[in-house]
Amino acid sequence: MIIRASGRLARFRKTLIRRIFEAAPTGAVNLGLGEPEGPTPEQVAEGGLRSVREGRTGYTPTAGRRDLLEAIAAGRSEAVSPEHVVVTAGSQEALFAALMLFVEPGREVLVPDPGYPAYPNIVELLGGIPVRYTLEASAGYRLDAAVVLEGITADTCAVILNAPANPTGAMHRRDQLELLLAGLRERGLPFISDEIYSGLAWEQPYMSPAELSPDGGIVVSGLSKTHAMTGWRIGWAIAPRDLVEPLTAVHQHLVTCAPSISQGAALAALAPGGVQAAGRIRERLARGLELMDRELGKLPGIRYRRPDGGFYFFIQVSGCTDSERLAFSILEQEQVVTIPGVAFGPGGEGCLRLSFAAAAADIVAGVAGVGRVLGG
Ligand code: PMP
Repeated sequence: MIIRASGRLARFRKTLIRRIFEAAPTGAVNLGLGEPEGPTPEQVAEGGLRSVREGRTGYTPTAGRRDLLEAIAAGRSEAVSPEHVVVTAGSQEALFAALMLFVEPGREVLVPDPGYPAYPNIVELLGGIPVRYTLEASAGYRLDAAVVLEGITADTCAVILNAPANPTGAMHRRDQLELLLAGLRERGLPFISDEIYSGLAWEQPYMSPAELSPDGGIVVSGLSKTHAMTGWRIGWAIAPRDLVEPLTAVHQHLVTCAPSISQGAALAALAPGGVQAAGRIRERLARGLELMDRELGKLPGIRYRRPDGGFYFFIQVSGCTDSERLAFSILEQEQVVTIPGVAFGPGGEGCLRLSFAAAAADIVAGVAGVGRVLGG
């Protein structure tokens, strides 16, 4: 008997990123990482262990533990009531749930190009149509409000924003963000703002679209990147009043509640000890940024900008028209994992994403390996 998955899944195969990771031999130098290296800080992990010891291992309320909702709301720069927060299984679930609120079959969602591949994939899983808006390399991949607004049609139902951005590290300029938010408000269209890297802004403090347009959309964020907590699966969505109910309902039917043990760890992450630990992770990443910038500066034939935030350099390789082939060549010849820019959409072709969330020795060895392939 042959059992087939639904037609909706027909074009869902292994992503390019997964194929690169699977092709990597053990011991390869990994500059593909999407997480800080090393385990979760001890005082944060202790919060999870405390949940276990205290027997807080059952379901929590659907939206999350009250004390955690309060801590998340208190951590926002715009005024947020804990009732507007839903704790999710990673920001990935928050993205899925937020999109589920808006996407109807055949409706369009504007997604960044280059951008995080989950955006178009989730939109398609929900029967919607992802429409890419271009982020120009010449503009440092920063948001251009006019370009996004031009992409809006009668079928558009939401716009995804991401800053600091994966893969480019770009942050929005305030004037462009204001223009865009005014345009969305005029048209009654919501934003979904993915702020998972917002605690890692290097050049200037992060400004959320929700600070400028508090009821204009949904904020998605979490602790994975800032607190080295990727495996705990804790994120959240913050929604305007009328959307909290449906958001909570979607979340309930997806996962019932975020893992209660991880919620204990999240509470510890947002307490003073956890905030200090995140500060140390941030300092380590800042050193990685400096080191990678210095090492990349030695390579011929590439162009790049220092990222405004996050932990990736997105480098343009002159003459490269097939970043997938280039990344596989670097892997085969030098055993260095990099992510081909085309994995993030056609706008990323010709580029490579290099993560500096890696040990100093790996940054030096990895960039040198990339250099030998480009030079040879
Ligand atoms: N958004 C972006 C832009 C990401 O890079 C990632 C992780 N790669 C996520 C969301 C999801 O992270 P998590 O589910 O661990 O919070």
